[in-house]
Amino acid sequence: MSAASGRPKQARTAGEAEGTPVSTATLHRIDVEYEQPDEATSGSVCSTKHAWARVPPEPTQAERAALKDKIRRLLKEKNAVMVSHYYVHPDLQDLAEETGGLVSDSLEMARFGRDHAAQTLVVSGVRFMGETAKILSPKKTVLMPDLDATCSLDLGCPIDEFSAFCDQHPDRTVVVYANTSAAVKARADWLVTSSCALDIVSALKAEGQKILWAPDRHLGAYIQRETGADMVFWNGACIVHDEFKAVELELLKQDHPAAKVLVHPESPADVVALADAVGSTSAILKAAREMDATEFIVATDNGMMHKLRTLNPGKTFYEAPTAGNSATCKSCAHCPWMAMNGLADVARVLETGANAIQVDPALIPRARQPIDRMLAFTAALRNGQPTAALVPHLGAA
Ligand code: SF4
Repeated sequence: MSAASGRPKQARTAGEAEGTPVSTATLHRIDVEYEQPDEATSGSVCSTKHAWARVPPEPTQAERAALKDKIRRLLKEKNAVMVSHYYVHPDLQDLAEETGGLVSDSLEMARFGRDHAAQTLVVSGVRFMGETAKILSPKKTVLMPDLDATCSLDLGCPIDEFSAFCDQHPDRTVVVYANTSAAVKARADWLVTSSCALDIVSALKAEGQKILWAPDRHLGAYIQRETGADMVFWNGACIVHDEFKAVELELLKQDHPAAKVLVHPESPADVVALADAVGSTSAILKAAREMDATEFIVATDNGMMHKLRTLNPGKTFYEAPTAGNSATCKSCAHCPWMAMNGLADVARVLETGANAIQVDPALIPRARQPIDRMLAFTAALRNGQPTAALVPHLGAA
């Protein structure tokens, strides 16, 4: 992919079906190549190879302690708060919590950043998370450790092609995953995360709405199987979850017959089919805490292991298998872009104000609509309030 341009190197349509729920075999399809074979000439900084090359070295114990002290001081001085995703380095998770910030999934990160009084948010995660924070809090400063930390789902859903896809389906409500650019959000009716997608699509289906879903094909197919909603899909994938393998998972289950299997729905359908619990990172944490088991096999980014093990000291967690120990950047169950976040860059951006996220001000009001809908819907759900009035018919507008 020519990530420098933010577009797939090859994008081709393989056909689509309309009007009825469709299988992934006949969907509008965008094939995306994630490797950057010619970085020297492209100047790209966003391929996985570049991302791995920019993963910060592990600090020594002394360096780690000094960086943490510096960040604690700067957070106070700059009226700033840390918001970290479950997939980033344990140092950034622990420090966020210790300093009054948050470690969570992207839904709660968005809500927390919007509601917190701090005027500066330091978002450790990937770019769409920083953009979402900026859209929700345009007057706040949103800093990120590395602005080139991106996401294969975001990269694989360029606005021009996505907009054309939407134009082909004017009767459908456009539902996009959080892992998208501000421009794609501005083209959407609803934003969802993996923790609320089932509830929102179920509510849309109950109102008789047909859905255009983007960009994760596995999550979309899972939602369709669970809800029976009429959906057409963009064909994107998370390079981390797409690599989990069902055959190898079956073998690991044989080695650990008492283990429960926890799977993120960005994983392929045959992996999801082996799960004892399917859900977002928050749902996986909840299942690990509440399920009557002491061993778990976990199919999500292995950054989650830190929180799982910290919160469940008596339980054992195994990483679900990927393609094997072939050491390619696609087979290690860890997101290269999440791995780019490090303590030294958090300290640097706090000190200098570098890496402030910018979102085109003209996009913000429209990009905010689907996010606000999601936040209002999930808040009502959480408070046990009715949600039907929060689901206007938008698709045929
Ligand atoms: S883990 Fe997957 S979905 Fe999450 S940021 Fe990385 S590439 Fe995107």
